[in-house]
Amino acid sequence: MNLKGHVAIVTGGARGIGKAISQSLAQDGAHLVISDVNRGEAKQTADALASPERRCLAVEANVTDGKAVAEMVDRAIREFGRIDILINNAGITRDGLLLRMKEEDWDLVLNVNLKGAFHCTKSVLPSMSKQRSGRIVNIASVVGVMGNAGQANYAASKAALIGFTKSVAREYASRGITVNAVAPGFIDTAMTQNLSAEVREGLMKQIPLGRLGTPQDIAHAVRFLVSEEAGYITGHVLHVNGGMLMV
Ligand code: NDP
Repeated sequence: MNLKGHVAIVTGGARGIGKAISQSLAQDGAHLVISDVNRGEAKQTADALASPERRCLAVEANVTDGKAVAEMVDRAIREFGRIDILINNAGITRDGLLLRMKEEDWDLVLNVNLKGAFHCTKSVLPSMSKQRSGRIVNIASVVGVMGNAGQANYAASKAALIGFTKSVAREYASRGITVNAVAPGFIDTAMTQNLSAEVREGLMKQIPLGRLGTPQDIAHAVRFLVSEEAGYITGHVLHVNGGMLMV
């Protein structure tokens, strides 16, 4: 895949799945904006990926803050002149059974996982529309399709992100912009490191391929969706879950 000269923004790109996506897009030649709340880690990731042909900028931005997101996107356009790819990856969990779930945990998860994608997408669309090209990939979750006890807030945010993906795909297809989602199953990152051995064992039984996914498994799927070859795919949800859910 050749992304030479393309400019990509990856939210939550400092670590985990976002970092693997950033590495993969950088390998294909894209210039990168790694946007994260974690300034130190974002800078480390960006510095490790920068090369003479490939510029990598770390920008501290909380995706829940529309003004900070608009400034991050303005800065990207000032530095690189264009934006070709947006990966809405920043996401969090605040798990708990519904009766015990605090309203603030509901709001925070919806704000980061869903409103964050709204702010970022809205901020890049004017520039992509002018170019008449763009690729947006939203990182959803298998849980947004299956549901999961203890994750009503998270599942709702990811299911809504899928509806958002399909709507924006319909709105912007005529501008040459594709909008797709990748729905990971259970992936070995900090987000899943707190699962007990018992829960992990239970999960393995539900995964025909017999292992948790790696961040790279997700990065490969994203890499395809942003490629030239995926130009006729929009509004799609690509499931990457080891066979845990077959739709
Ligand atoms: P991680 O927690 O490992 O990384 C998420 C990154 O996003 C961190 O760098 C985090 O910063 C950053 N971040 C958190 N909140 C914000 C915010 N408000 N604004 C900007 N950046 C933020 O998560 P994963 O890599 O595991 O997950 C990435 C995406 O994949 C998420 O959307 C998640 O829901 C989704 N996903 C993950 C699965 C998994 O099994 N791991 C399964 C299905 C989907 P900080 O370090 O400061 O928290």
